[in-house]
Amino acid sequence: MRDGLYEAEGIVFTDDCIVVPVSLRQYMLDLIHESHLGIENSKTRARELLYWSRMNLDIEETVANCDICNMYQRAHQREPMIPHEIPAERFLKTGLDIMSLHNKDILLLLVTSPNIQKCYLCRTRQPRP
Ligand SMILES: [Zn+2]
Repeated sequence: MRDGLYEAEGIVFTDDCIVVPVSLRQYMLDLIHESHLGIENSKTRARELLYWSRMNLDIEETVANCDICNMYQRAHQREPMIPHEIPAERFLKTGLDIMSLHNKDILLLLVTSPNIQKCYLCRTRQPRP
């Protein structure tokens, strides 16, 4: 249990988090988990406002037993960073990418030489309505 319990208007707090009574824990778990954010995001969301002694374990069990979370678990994983090799000659390597900024689609052209790396921005489409 944390230090510094205090009460305000019938609600018990510790470290600015609401101490959730047993009778409301399942309801709070349902609220925390309604977006199916996965274990870590659900824990982070809960820790900002709520506290009970087994909160992390209860969240882990809830997410582990959720068919939707289990179905999309792989989709929540980040893609690994793949570093590029440094080219040995001028303009040996170029790259293209597409990004959106302020509702505009932008084509990025990256040109790499031994001494220079330049990135060109080329607007590819008009702003979307
Ligand atoms: Zn879920």
